[in-house]
Amino acid sequence: MKAAPFAWQRPASLPAALQALQAEGCSAVGGGQSLGPMLNLRLARPAALVDLRRLPELRGSALQDGVLRLGAAVTHAEIEDGLVPDTTRGMLPTVARGIAYRAVRNRGTLGGSLCHADPAADWVNALMALGATVSLSSPQGTRQLPLEDFIIAGYATALQPGEVLTEVELPAFGPGLRWGYHKLCPKVGEFADAIGVVVVDPGIGFCRVLVGAIETRPALLPDAAGLLREAAQAPDPHALFSAAVTRACPGADPVFIHQHAVALVRALAQMNARQP
Ligand SMILES: Cc1cc2nc3c(=O)[nH]c(=O)nc-3n(C[C@H](O)[C@H](O)[C@H](O)COP(=O)(O)OP(=O)(O)OC[C@H]3O[C@@H](n4cnc5c(N)ncnc54)[C@H](O)[C@@H]3O)c2cc1C
Repeated sequence: MKAAPFAWQRPASLPAALQALQAEGCSAVGGGQSLGPMLNLRLARPAALVDLRRLPELRGSALQDGVLRLGAAVTHAEIEDGLVPDTTRGMLPTVARGIAYRAVRNRGTLGGSLCHADPAADWVNALMALGATVSLSSPQGTRQLPLEDFIIAGYATALQPGEVLTEVELPAFGPGLRWGYHKLCPKVGEFADAIGVVVVDPGIGFCRVLVGAIETRPALLPDAAGLLREAAQAPDPHALFSAAVTRACPGADPVFIHQHAVALVRALAQMNARQP
């Protein structure tokens, strides 16, 4: 099937884009890698698309006092290629490299991935585990939300009509940051069946354990530091993580629990293998 007809607008600035998005039936487009298939299947039928990819306000990246800010139109490939700063000791480029294949990564953007909010998407999971905050702009001004408040469910976000996600900000990580990211999928580059993420930075008191590619938004496991302490002592961390996944995903079947516990076990092993 082909997309229904729509107009294409390419504003030159963020204020012009926000203005254009106030019109009835107008929708934002980033790399078009999720929206494109939805247009072709006629699951989305906008009157006009407002192209955000070249907006200078969304294309930048900045590193100040250890805080990294990435524009929403930065592509997966730009992160993979190290064209933007990385404060995560390699986590961002590693995650980028595992997304789909290069043609998708050349066009797909951070902002598009987060706004699409596929629960199995790599940035949704990785950036939530990294404690990211997103900036949202509208003609009324700009607001910031922690990513775990922005993603409210699978394919559902706190984005208001006419709002644009402009920037992603990461905490000021130090040299003690360690991480593990495991995406369980049948073939490299496919969407995940299960995701496990562990991020620890003792210098800033940061510790997150996340289980993702679940039916709703990713789950940040409670008392992550306590869980990791227990895992370090446990003869079988798989059993410990299975119990944690069962609590996070009530009613999940045994295969689901096993896969997600395995993703967590492997993420933890990956983190432990990294030098502090
Ligand atoms: C074959 C294939 C395989 C893929 N595999 C993976 C994978 O393994 N892992 C993974 O994580 N992803 C995967 N993807 C998805 C890919 O990463 C997309 O790039 C991403 O999900 C959407 O980014 P985009 O910039 O293309 O957004 P678009 O498709 O342009 O937009 C998606 C949605 O977000 C809205 N939007 C876009 N940008 C903004 C913004 N700045 N502010 C407000 N709203 C905005 C749009 O209106 C639309 O509703 C795959 C895609 C394809 C086609």
